[in-house]
Amino acid sequence: RADVLTIGEAMVTVRCAGPLRLGGDSRVSTAGAEANVAIALSRLGHTARWTGALGNDEPGELVLRTLRAEGVLTDHVVRRTDAPTGLLLRDVAAGGRARVHYYRRDSAASTLSWDEVRPAVDAGQAGLHLTGITPALGPAPLEAVAAAARQAHRSGAWVSLDVNHRSLLWSGEEAVRALRPLLPYVTVLVASDDELALVADGDGERDRVAALLDAGVEEVVVKRGAAGASYHDARTSFDVPARRVPVVDVVGAGDAFTAGYLSGRLDGLDAYGRLERATLLGAASVACAGDWEGLPTRAELPALALPEGETLR
Ligand code: ATP
Repeated sequence: RADVLTIGEAMVTVRCAGPLRLGGDSRVSTAGAEANVAIALSRLGHTARWTGALGNDEPGELVLRTLRAEGVLTDHVVRRTDAPTGLLLRDVAAGGRARVHYYRRDSAASTLSWDEVRPAVDAGQAGLHLTGITPALGPAPLEAVAAAARQAHRSGAWVSLDVNHRSLLWSGEEAVRALRPLLPYVTVLVASDDELALVADGDGERDRVAALLDAGVEEVVVKRGAAGASYHDARTSFDVPARRVPVVDVVGAGDAFTAGYLSGRLDGLDAYGRLERATLLGAASVACAGDWEGLPTRAELPALALPEGETLR
């Protein structure tokens, strides 16, 4: 039995130091929102299981090896011989802006089915973590995610959903149609402020949060990048500022933040404690290169809360 099961797509990333068309040095790693959350939770000492479909290829080996090295359970991962692992190329466009190029159409993950996911859900978990990315990959993953949410909810597990809208994968209307039916099973909803309208009607954030709580969501967490985050439940609402850290790489901040929140929840922290841990992890992620490489272990957690610039001895 895992503390958290998460289901998703994991890819290999190749990061180019400059514009891709010029070639040159690059660094190979792995990416995937749910895999990032699983790694973050595992580093904090929780038992995290990741499942999904990978190609029977070298990128798939790298993903598996990375997850295993990080202590994530991979015992229900599906391997395919007829479809590849997805690929994400990152480079630097004119003006120094980060740019991404996805090669994920018809990848192994795009046909992940409920039959393939079910054994992982049946293995048991305290919580199931989902994102809006997996259901955007195709009809089979959409059905798999919906069935997993229902099944986990029925078994008494909590379910968290990070909206994580990816406009390259589907339209806002498609996301609305797919994600809103999940809400009756969702305990914790995490969204950026501009994603709230996808999951709730209403004029402005207050109305939308109220609609989510009415729909049965127990905890709503709103991310605002460097401006911090907000928390809402039936009894309380509050804002927390982000920590001031040197910004090295903002990709992955949302996943780290969500993992920090879920870790606090697993530890039984109150809402302030959960948001504090989320904020620490989000800041740790932006202060280091890579989506997950800079995430703290449990032993490193207290040091993250120290004032900036202090040397660790
Ligand atoms: P991504 O999809 O790029 O991973 P996101 O949009 O899901 O990110 P953000 O709102 O950017 O998530 O960030 C989540 C949290 O991480 C914020 O609420 C904040 O606590 C922290 N964070 C993000 N950016 C910064 C920053 N520049 N400095 C400090 N903390 C940050």
